[in-house]
Amino acid sequence: MSPSWRKYIKTGVHHPNELAGHIRIDVPSLEKVCDIYPMRINAYFLDLMKKRGASLMRQVVPDPRELEDATGWVDPLAEERNSSVPNLVHRYPDRVLFLVSNQCGVYCRFCTRKRKIGRWDPIQDQAIEEGFRYIRQHGEIFDVLLSGGDPLLLSDEKLDWILMKIKEISHVGVVRIGTRIPSVLPQRVTSRLANILSKTKNLYINLHFNHPDEITDEVKRAIRLLSDRGIPLGSQTVLLKGINDHVSVISRLMRMLLQIRVKPYYLLHADLVKGTEHFRTTVDTGLFIMRQLRGHMSGLAVPTYVVDLPGGGGKVPLLPGYVIKKTANELVIQNYQGYVYRVPNLPFSTTMGEFQEKAFIEN
Ligand SMILES: *Cc1c(COP(=O)(O)O)cnc(C)c1O
Repeated sequence: MSPSWRKYIKTGVHHPNELAGHIRIDVPSLEKVCDIYPMRINAYFLDLMKKRGASLMRQVVPDPRELEDATGWVDPLAEERNSSVPNLVHRYPDRVLFLVSNQCGVYCRFCTRKRKIGRWDPIQDQAIEEGFRYIRQHGEIFDVLLSGGDPLLLSDEKLDWILMKIKEISHVGVVRIGTRIPSVLPQRVTSRLANILSKTKNLYINLHFNHPDEITDEVKRAIRLLSDRGIPLGSQTVLLKGINDHVSVISRLMRMLLQIRVKPYYLLHADLVKGTEHFRTTVDTGLFIMRQLRGHMSGLAVPTYVVDLPGGGGKVPLLPGYVIKKTANELVIQNYQGYVYRVPNLPFSTTMGEFQEKAFIEN
């Protein structure tokens, strides 16, 4: 018998015809979109988005603009080029991104892996074994990041197998799972799953939340189950136009996450993925939001804003311009309130007198 959480996927919507029974859409134009980019809205998320509205709907309901976008790239991060074996991206020296599933709880319309998610050809065990072999042969790999698709959509047995095999590789010091399941299909987080995950003592789970409306009682239960087993939880958020590109939304989300023991990790600038142009904000918007977070709210709630460089250059953190001027002797720095301060760029003892005089004159 298949576990009960699977019924949320089975009874969700996968075709515009089914979606038309729930919300007003133009079926023929969405059919064209879904021919290229599959749709999945599981029954839990369908119900939630109908109750809570546009900020959730726009993340998962196909949009004709997905086909009109000529600007983006199919694989903006050049993941395929950086894959020595299929489904394993080795971009950074000490860590790999290991794609172990091509299914998700919902198919986010802004997904970076729009090119491969939800296709019918599942990732075979043989491909996963090739990944193990690669990691085994590369002693420099300290950190294995399981992603996909969503690793938590694999069966308990498959996930247990993957975690056990990685545990056998002695140079791997840390395992991470990147998942949106606790936020979009919390029913999947059973105590059996939590037991399996908590057997890996060096496991970190990074969640994905984009809007405070995603945090329901079911989600809180799922998260409590994981953190009560001692699994450290982080979260990433994609900056999305019209959904969360506002200080009040982001700050509310980050505070709510912190309150349920989830540490905000990354705020990601939306990747240059073909078919996602209508979601992308400017980097200036991201920087503006970051300026309103740091200092104004608990530092624990402040994520790092990153841009994943097109072409596969990796993630780079971006900060608002706090340093106004830098010379060989000093930096002129603005604080979170906009006040300007001078900081010596020399051993303090040699300049102390001078800076005591000047330090605050610009306030
Ligand atoms: C994001 C990413 C990682 C993890 O990056 P961290 O900054 O260590 O969280 C690793 N590999 C690839 C290919 C990635 O895109």
